[in-house]
Amino acid sequence: MKAKTSARTENRPKAPVSGELTAAARPYASTKTEQPIEAGTGATASSVCESRPMARPLSPSLLLAQASPFQRVREYLCFLELRTAAESLGGELDRAAAQKLPPLQVLDNLLAAEVATTRARRLKTRMGNAHLPRNKTIANFDFDFQPSVDRQVVAELSTLRFIEEKRNVLLVGPPGVGKTHLAVALGAAAVDAGYRAYFTTAMDLVANLQRNHERGSLPHRERGYIVGPPLLIVDELGYLPMDKVAANWLFHVVSRRYERGSIILTCNRGFADWAQIFNDVVAATAIVDRLLHRATVINIRGHSYRMRGYHSDQADDRLIGYGIAANGSKGGGAIVS
Ligand code: ADP
Ligand code: MG
Repeated sequence: MKAKTSARTENRPKAPVSGELTAAARPYASTKTEQPIEAGTGATASSVCESRPMARPLSPSLLLAQASPFQRVREYLCFLELRTAAESLGGELDRAAAQKLPPLQVLDNLLAAEVATTRARRLKTRMGNAHLPRNKTIANFDFDFQPSVDRQVVAELSTLRFIEEKRNVLLVGPPGVGKTHLAVALGAAAVDAGYRAYFTTAMDLVANLQRNHERGSLPHRERGYIVGPPLLIVDELGYLPMDKVAANWLFHVVSRRYERGSIILTCNRGFADWAQIFNDVVAATAIVDRLLHRATVINIRGHSYRMRGYHSDQADDRLIGYGIAANGSKGGGAIVS
């Protein structure tokens, strides 16, 4: 029995922040009444709770008189899926005993550890579901290179008030000027702050909707990413012309989200060209009308960041093909209400 107790003591998880505690200061690690619930009461979050999935009832050994309060509390924590708290319990109790912490502090520490784990897990899930390209942040956007992007406007958007107010953001400009970068950076900031977001290109969006419509699974998919997330990012409108069906799908998305959820849209063509993109003046007008009602437009008139190594005249020659002046003139951000 003695040997068993010391083996358990050795395996107990260490307090996360305090230094090593002496055996005398770790009464919960060496309690005599503690019985092993099962072999290897080992020390990690997964090993403490692993064999107790949600569906499994509470361990029968808890009903026995000899189960210690420590065992019961840890089992309850596992049953409630509070795995990090279950793992930290021994260490926190030891720390409380050594530092004479009030009981409320123990609860505070356990719950704080659990909340931190849950937040990190949810963030990872939201990030995965958002399908955002990686490593684009506002911090690594070089505003000096692109003076037509107004820092103040981007800073205001970074507060994410536009999502709360269900406003749209339109980033317009030639290739390589950072439209996708800014859209992704705002999306990442939103996901970080706890919002759900979904990133797609205009072409993928249309193709997915059409496919789901043909399969009869559109309502389900719509909840998933058309209506569901507070932020939908539609990248690369205008690179390829759209047929009538595609234009209808885009109109469908814009009208479903109108005043219900934000859209960030990037486009390499000015609004005057949208009738050409959609091959349909009526559809283009209807889409622009809804998108621009309560929107921030960032019109980027500058050089391609991808071509920053080139002589600027060469870069300008490339841009003429897109019908957009690469004169670096002030485009800024316009609030359209
Ligand atoms: P666009 O969507 O306008 O075609 P991107 O956002 O894809 O352009 O930008 C092309 C590449 O250049 C990306 O790797 C992006 O991160 C980078 N980039 C563009 N503008 C900037 C900038 N001002 N500062 C830092 N990186 C930039
Ligand atoms: Mg882009």
